[in-house]
Amino acid sequence: MTAFASQKYEKVVTCDEDSSNCLRQATKPISLRDWAIAKSTVEQLFYVRETILKGGAGLAAPQIGISQPIFIYTPDRTTESLRVVINPSFEPIGHSMIEGSEACFSVPLRCTKLKRWETIKVKYQNLDGELIEQIIDGFEAKVFQHEMDHLKGHLTIDHDDVDILIFTDPKEFQEHMQQVHLEDAKRYRERCF
Ligand SMILES: [Zn+2]
Repeated sequence: MTAFASQKYEKVVTCDEDSSNCLRQATKPISLRDWAIAKSTVEQLFYVRETILKGGAGLAAPQIGISQPIFIYTPDRTTESLRVVINPSFEPIGHSMIEGSEACFSVPLRCTKLKRWETIKVKYQNLDGELIEQIIDGFEAKVFQHEMDHLKGHLTIDHDDVDILIFTDPKEFQEHMQQVHLEDAKRYRERCF
């Protein structure tokens, strides 16, 4: 399932219309005491991804106006592989960075070229509150770092040293992003794009 940030979607906050400033706010950790709230946020993220966006590699709570450290993401763009991430952190493994292009539902019609760590060690809680620790790389690491940015109140366009391509025609943007997906597939040697 492929979705593109070629328009403003219902329920998704964009950088052009962020009156509550939710996208630029750092989130605070959520405790197990408040897990019912976290579960409700996860339900809303799934609802927006499935019924409104109809796809996408990841979606973070601040993007739907909820300032909580929660996101969902898929390492291969498929719905079946979706993971729930709560209270995450990460550290780079090694010094290698990869430059790639990224779009974001909160930054419609823009494609941003920036560098991400190639391999990272991530720590987070799943929906059951269990602590997960793993090493991830390639496309998965890129998506994880993009969503982590949202939880810190940063957007792709806020990075230093970025190239930003701005589109006015949604069709042209989609064609460009299709090309980016193909490049990603080659670069990261993933099968499911
Ligand atoms: Zn984003």
